[in-house]
Amino acid sequence: MKAAVVTSDKRVEVKDKTIRPIRSGEALVDVEFCGVCHTDLHVKNADYGDKTGVTLGHEGIGVVREVADDVSSLKVGDRVSIAWFFEGCGHYEYCISGRETLCREVKNAGYTVDGAMAEQCIVTADYAVKVPDGLDPAAASSVTCAGVTTYKAIKEAKIKPGQWIAIYGLGGLGNLALQYAKNVFNAKVIAVDINDSQLELAREMGADMVINPKKDKPEDMMQDKIGGAHAAVVTAVAKSAFNSAIDCVRAGGVVVAVGLPPEAMDLSIPRLVLNGIEVIGSLVGTREDLREAFAFAAEGRVIPKVEKRPIEDINAIFDEMQAGSFTGRMVIDMDL
Ligand SMILES: [Zn+2]
Ligand SMILES: [Zn+2]
Repeated sequence: MKAAVVTSDKRVEVKDKTIRPIRSGEALVDVEFCGVCHTDLHVKNADYGDKTGVTLGHEGIGVVREVADDVSSLKVGDRVSIAWFFEGCGHYEYCISGRETLCREVKNAGYTVDGAMAEQCIVTADYAVKVPDGLDPAAASSVTCAGVTTYKAIKEAKIKPGQWIAIYGLGGLGNLALQYAKNVFNAKVIAVDINDSQLELAREMGADMVINPKKDKPEDMMQDKIGGAHAAVVTAVAKSAFNSAIDCVRAGGVVVAVGLPPEAMDLSIPRLVLNGIEVIGSLVGTREDLREAFAFAAEGRVIPKVEKRPIEDINAIFDEMQAGSFTGRMVIDMDL
C-alpha cells in the first residue's frame, strides 16, 4: 500500500509499504482522508528526534476493514479517526484521571507509531474514536487534531456565555477556535493576528473585535475597551503573542497556550499573583473531547475549511506550509 514515509534527508517519500497483520485489540482501517498538521512538519524535520521510516499522519479518517477477534468496541464498516493521541497505557495516574493525553507511555500516530498518511493504517480499537453519521469525513479529519485541540483549549479557558475570549493567531487552528468559541461556547471573540486577510475572514465568521498587533497593541486595546478579556487562547507561534496574552486578560483571567514556539515567555510574577492569572498548557484532547468536538461539527456549528490534495503533493504541501502560503487545512484525499 502507498504511504508517506519520512526520509533521512528530512523529506517525505510516497512509497509502497507492507502493512503487518493486525494483532489482539487492533483494527485495520482503509484511510479516506488525512489532514496535514504543522506537527507533521516538525516530525519530518526531525525537530523531535530522527523519525526516518515512520509513516506520517495524525488527522486520519477511514473505515474499518477488519478487527481482531477480541475487539468489541469497533466493527467492520465503522468510520473512525486516527489521532495524535493514538494510545495511552490505560492504567496509571493520567489515564485514569481524565487526563490521558498526558500519559507518560503515550503513543502518537505518525510519530511513535505509523500514522494515517497511507492507504491503510492499524489502530488500537479502543482508542479510535468513531465519527458520527452526517459529518463529512474530510471535515472530520481537521477536527481530529486542529478541531479537538482548539475545542479543548476553550474548555480549559473556562469561558462562559457572553464573556470575552481573545484568540491569538487566526490560521488553521485559530479559525476553528473562533468557531468553537462563538458557536459552541457563545463567547464574544477578539481575533488577534498580524495578517489583515486572516482578520477579515475572522470578522466574516463572527469575530466581535479584530486587532492587528502591527497597528495596535492588543493588550492596551482590550484593557481600554472591555476592561480586559476573560480568557485568551494562543495558537500563534510567536513569543510576543504569549506575552501580550498575559497582559490582555482581566484579573482572574485564564491564558491557554496551544502554539509551540521554542522560547520561554516573560511572566511577571506580581501580575500573576496579584491578579490571579492562570496560565495553562493544553495538549490536543482526550477521546471524550474528540467525541464532543465531532458532535458539534456534525451539528454544523463548526465547519473546517479544507482543500483536498493527492498524497503525491505532500512535499509541496510542506513547502507551502513553511512559506505560509495557504489558509485553512490541506487534506490528503486517498482517492485522488
Ligand atoms: Zn496535529
Ligand atoms: Zn497512561
